[in-house]
Amino acid sequence: MSDSKKALITGITGQDGAYLAASLLGRGYQVYGAKRPSLNSVVPRLERLGITDQVELVDIELLEYSNIHQLLCEVTPDEIYNLAAQSFPGAPLDQSLHTADVTGMGVARLLKAAHTACPEARVFQASTAELYGNCETTPQNELTRFQPRTAYGTAKLFAYWLGVDYRETAGMHFSSGILYNHESPLRGPEFVSRKITTQLAEISVGQREVLELGNLSSHRDWGYAPDYVEAMWLMLQQDQPDDYVLATGVTHSVREFVEGVARVCGLDIAWEGEGLDARGVDRKSGREIVRVNPDYYREEGGAELCGDASKARAKLGWSPETTFEELVVIMAEADLKAVRDSS
Ligand code: NAP
Repeated sequence: MSDSKKALITGITGQDGAYLAASLLGRGYQVYGAKRPSLNSVVPRLERLGITDQVELVDIELLEYSNIHQLLCEVTPDEIYNLAAQSFPGAPLDQSLHTADVTGMGVARLLKAAHTACPEARVFQASTAELYGNCETTPQNELTRFQPRTAYGTAKLFAYWLGVDYRETAGMHFSSGILYNHESPLRGPEFVSRKITTQLAEISVGQREVLELGNLSSHRDWGYAPDYVEAMWLMLQQDQPDDYVLATGVTHSVREFVEGVARVCGLDIAWEGEGLDARGVDRKSGREIVRVNPDYYREEGGAELCGDASKARAKLGWSPETTFEELVVIMAEADLKAVRDSS
């Protein structure tokens, strides 16, 4: 029998699930990847990393308790990484019941099941910078007051405090990573970084006319997903469970992201106008290739979301290795190659 550690990853079909699985396999773990039962066995992100055959795919539905309990009894993992969530902060308010059920109550079901089925298992919970919402101070650290402003952030806050309760009153090894935005070529197309890379690549090969965005002056603390899954693992190797901000500590605007991607795609953008009237024109062709769509436009509220990861640096020895400039090139080159290959 193998004496390698067993890790269960929920959200295996997502961006972080794929990178974390690859990282744990590289460390000799037996990896159980939990996907929703409704899904067929196609797992494109694992395929893309070439690791589908090495991951034991299992079913999990966070909306229902007994299947989670049964799965944990069968697998008896040493480590559980809960990455599953309705993970889009911008999901419309009328989806708030679903968001609360998956992203909040789903964690309640998972923790209760783990406490019963495998109480020694160490648990990582993917928390989020959206916990800080409209906070007044920047940068944020583990002591900054939480003021979530979305159903997603509120559901994640419930999960965060419930985990603290299991840690303090039940002695569970529960740790939260307060994750700031982290991107990659595997990022979902609904997120702004990936929307920019796919659509500018399409524009550069003549498959699309224009990229429509919201507030170009919005700033984000953007990191590279493979760096962040390393911190998740490090957190579960500590004797004491704890919560850590995981962030780069540097922010860049959506406009800067667009400029970097445009360069890789051979486009040279000149900006005109501000706010809702801002637009980007390709200097070579004179064509408008970026415009603001008022439906996507949000004024920034509160202080800038920018993470102070000093605690992770001091206690875990973690800091992100990939710069913003490198991240933009990695993502842009991947999508440019994909559109060129398909055209
Ligand atoms: P993602 O790509 O959106 O993946 C989310 C995963 O959750 C998917 O595998 C999805 O499965 C699964 N899921 C959704 N509903 C489920 C349900 N009812 N039961 C079981 N599984 C369900 O997210 P990600 O970018 O990898 O992020 C990983 C985690 O980190 C998420 O919890 C996210 O909220 C958190 N986070 C991410 C970032 C970031 O910048 N990436 C920042 C802060 C926090 P399907 O494929 O079937 O939909």
